[in-house]
Amino acid sequence: MRLVLVGAPGAGKGTQAKFVAKHFSVPAISTGDIFRANIAAKTDLGREAKRFMDAGDLVPDEVTIGIVRDRLSQDDTANGFLLDGFPRTLAQAEALRDMLDDLGTPLDVVLELQVDDDEVVRRLSGRRTCRQCGHVWHLEFDPPKQEGVCDIDGGELFQRDDDQPETIRRRLEVYTDQTAPLVGFYETAGLLRSITAQGPVDEITERAIAALEAAVDARADA
Ligand SMILES: [Zn+2]
Repeated sequence: MRLVLVGAPGAGKGTQAKFVAKHFSVPAISTGDIFRANIAAKTDLGREAKRFMDAGDLVPDEVTIGIVRDRLSQDDTANGFLLDGFPRTLAQAEALRDMLDDLGTPLDVVLELQVDDDEVVRRLSGRRTCRQCGHVWHLEFDPPKQEGVCDIDGGELFQRDDDQPETIRRRLEVYTDQTAPLVGFYETAGLLRSITAQGPVDEITERAIAALEAAVDARADA
């Protein structure tokens, strides 16, 4: 199963990526996680990526494409992969298609998680991150026992720049401008499946798996 997840920031891609990848026994590859690991390790790549991420902008294509090419050449992708956070632009989607065509391993399906903008702002602006352990709490969905304090280690909670309402709106604008055209690209390619990504997490996972299995069955029948 070679799969791409697309959807606005806050659509729950990271959460669904883990469950779906486990179900299909493929690695969940998040370019955001790769960038964050590089930022934490203060590599050159990390420093470069941080400048863009702090501003709510996308990391430039050539940087991201290089990272993905490198990651997809590792052995654990032999039976497939789930990409979360890439591609985000039409240029990246074309680069990915060419990369996979060269390898003889084209995508099987692209799953779109659909969610309202208001819901995205509600989900993301409630997030609070622990300065010590990095655990993410949520004022509404998963509040700490004591306001502003991490239950795990007593660390101070703060709102990441990414989760400030104005940055969220900026990210949604970037998504609409740069990423939404991907949906049309994949629809034309006959790869797109879309599901509603609102409601309980386990129900969204069930919808995602059902949609993906239906897509695979349809290809097998074709
Ligand atoms: Zn903590």
